[in-house]
Amino acid sequence: MAFVIVALDGPTGVGKSTLARQLAERNQLLYVNTGSMFRCLAWKWNRLDKPENEGALQELGEQTQIVLEADGRVFCDGEEISAAIRTEEVSALASQVSRFVPIRQALKFQQRQLVEQAKIGGVYRGAVLEGRDIGTVVLPQADCKFFVEASPETRARRRFAELQAKDPSVRFEEILEALKQRDEQDRNRSEAPLRKAADAILVDTSNLNVEQVLSVLEQHLQPFLLTESS
Ligand code: C5P
Repeated sequence: MAFVIVALDGPTGVGKSTLARQLAERNQLLYVNTGSMFRCLAWKWNRLDKPENEGALQELGEQTQIVLEADGRVFCDGEEISAAIRTEEVSALASQVSRFVPIRQALKFQQRQLVEQAKIGGVYRGAVLEGRDIGTVVLPQADCKFFVEASPETRARRRFAELQAKDPSVRFEEILEALKQRDEQDRNRSEAPLRKAADAILVDTSNLNVEQVLSVLEQHLQPFLLTESS
């Protein structure tokens, strides 16, 4: 039986997680948030005092047990870190740690493994992985590739609304600046930079709500799901 692989890439704050989670739920796909995996290693890297030598980075990448639960909870070596990895501090650290080759190699391997396990598990009709380099590096053979975009101001406004609900003292300009910095780092790093795969479908979400974007994604996904069940 065919197994549909969906790559959902795009910059910070564009709403990839909401889209990928709902796409997965509605179409019986495994959902993998690869950003959470980088955040997990960034969180531990910080605890280890940010070593930069290859051996330590390799060990960090290969010897850390990352568990992504279906309900969104994240565990690092058995410890729940779901809330701890969602801070602005860990966002910035994740962008730093994701530049290192041994970290990217280890996570690429684990991400491919998750897909292989789901393929043989018989529970899912496919998998959707969200990240920065899924369509270009991790799963270049994906059936359906999407690159979601929105202007930095639109993305910062969404993030600001989210954060302000928890902390009324946050400033819009700071959010926008941090977002632009992460964009810059993600797009310009030498290893697996953020960029649209040549065969990815570009979806600009600036003027669309979640339901509208999902319907665009599902229009493209439908033929693959139909082929699979016939
Ligand atoms: O998607 P999220 O904002 O949670 O990702 C956190 C950071 O992890 C990104 O800013 C990026 O530097 C890194 N990342 C990556 N490749 C991925 C997913 C995330 O480099 N596939």
